[in-house]
Amino acid sequence: MKDCLFCKIIEGKLPCCKVYENENILAFKDINPVAKEHVLIIPKIHIENTAQRKYLNILGELLLSTNTIAQKLNIFDSGYRIINNKGKNAGQIVDHIHLHLIGGEPLKPIN
Ligand code: AMP
Ligand code: ZN
Repeated sequence: MKDCLFCKIIEGKLPCCKVYENENILAFKDINPVAKEHVLIIPKIHIENTAQRKYLNILGELLLSTNTIAQKLNIFDSGYRIINNKGKNAGQIVDHIHLHLIGGEPLKPIN
């Protein structure tokens, strides 16, 4: 998709610090980390949100990939948080679905 920041990263038009990649997904370090480890996980196709059932498989793969990526980051045992921001009130700034995987240190409770 034209003018999508994450599509440009997938196409190699913008650099990223890659952590993991397979046929369907790409994971790279967030440019503005909120914790010691902060990785974004994105599908290689442009999906805007979780509301489209036809993307069930890729959305499942996105979630399952967090296990592999956390192991790669060596934070699987210490624990981590997975976040998906949806829309303005959540502070979503990139309209290409992505999971934030954050950890590497104790995180503030969300409630
Ligand atoms: P969200 O607020 O959920 O839309 O998250 C978008 C995230 O993308 C933010 O945490 C940004 O810091 C991150 N980000 C923006 N541009 C880049 C980039 N070029 N490389 C890596 N992360 C980025
Ligand atoms: Zn995109």
